[in-house]
Order: sequence, then structure tokens, then C-alpha cells
Amino acid sequence: MTHTLMTLPFDKNALEPFISEETLEYHHGKHHAAYINNLNKLIEGTKYEERTLVDIVTSSEGGIFNNAAQVYNHNFYFSGMSSTNTEPSETLKALLSKEFGSLEAFKDQFVREASALFGAGWVWLSIDKEGALLIESFSNAGNPLLTGNTPLMTCDVWEHAYYIDYRNVRPEYIEKWWGLINWDFVSQNLAAVIAA
Ligand code: MN
Repeated sequence: MTHTLMTLPFDKNALEPFISEETLEYHHGKHHAAYINNLNKLIEGTKYEERTLVDIVTSSEGGIFNNAAQVYNHNFYFSGMSSTNTEPSETLKALLSKEFGSLEAFKDQFVREASALFGAGWVWLSIDKEGALLIESFSNAGNPLLTGNTPLMTCDVWEHAYYIDYRNVRPEYIEKWWGLINWDFVSQNLAAVIAA
């Protein structure tokens, strides 16, 4: 199976001024595309050739894992942003309040962890098998599939996600990214877990 680069669910200039068209040209058009190309090359002729992306992420290591997970993570990240204003569902809001105290307290903790994560990585909102929400931080290409949880939302804190627009000021990027969250996507991910 050949993996293909997802189409962005918004125009490349739709997130300006918070995330520029230039950033998306590099982030989606170069970095994300490179992970796809690398993955397709690396799995050729291996047992991973016919597997789904999730299967590869949860059963591989080394270069195949790194590229597959980066494809999965970027699909999730780009699907999780929107140029239009969205709100968390009532169910999501209730669970966030139960776990973190309030939506605002959840934001504070998420932004703090994403700002503090050392080096390149990903910060996720996920849900565990008992139905509890949690924030999980991973270095490099990590994601909640590795801890057996279900991902709901993610922020990419690799420098390539923000360096053009914010240089080294990661907290400012995270603050602006927060306003771009596609809460419909996050709420639908939660609803799919609850329905399962
Ligand atoms: Mn990235």
C-alpha cells in the first residue's frame, strides 16, 4: 500500500497571521511529504508493505517507526486545526472539567507541558481505557498509540512547526495554536471512543 500525503482541510493562507502560508508550505509540503516518501521507500519489500499506518506505528521500530509515526502525527495535527471558530462538545467540556477542573485549567496545563517539553516532540490529549482524559508528552515521533490510549488532539512542538513565524518563542506559538484548535475534530474523536 502506498501512503499518500493528506490534503490540508483549509487553504494554506487560512491560518494567517497565526500560522503563515510559508510555514505550511514547509511543514506540510516539505516535512510531512518527506515522511511519506521515506515511509514508502522504507516499507518496500518488507512485511509492512501491506499494513495500515496504525498497524505500522504500533508494530515497527527504527526508521520505519519514526517515519510512520510522523505521518500519523502530522495527519492528526493538521486535521485538528481550523480557520473557523469551533467549540468543544458538551460531553468533552464535562470530561475536561472532571479531569482538569475547567477548560481554562486544562489549557493552562496543556500549554505548560507543551512549552516545557525538552527538544522535539508532541503533546497530546488522550483518553485511557477507563475513560479518563490525560495529557501525554512524547519526544520525537511518540504518540498515545504507544501507551495504549486513544489520541484526541495534538500539538506539534518540533521547531519546524513554528520557527518561521515565532523563531524560538515556542510558548507564543502554542498560545496562538490554541485559537486554531478544531474542537469539532476533537469532540468527534471523543464521541467515537464513547460509541465503541
Ligand atoms: Mn511537524
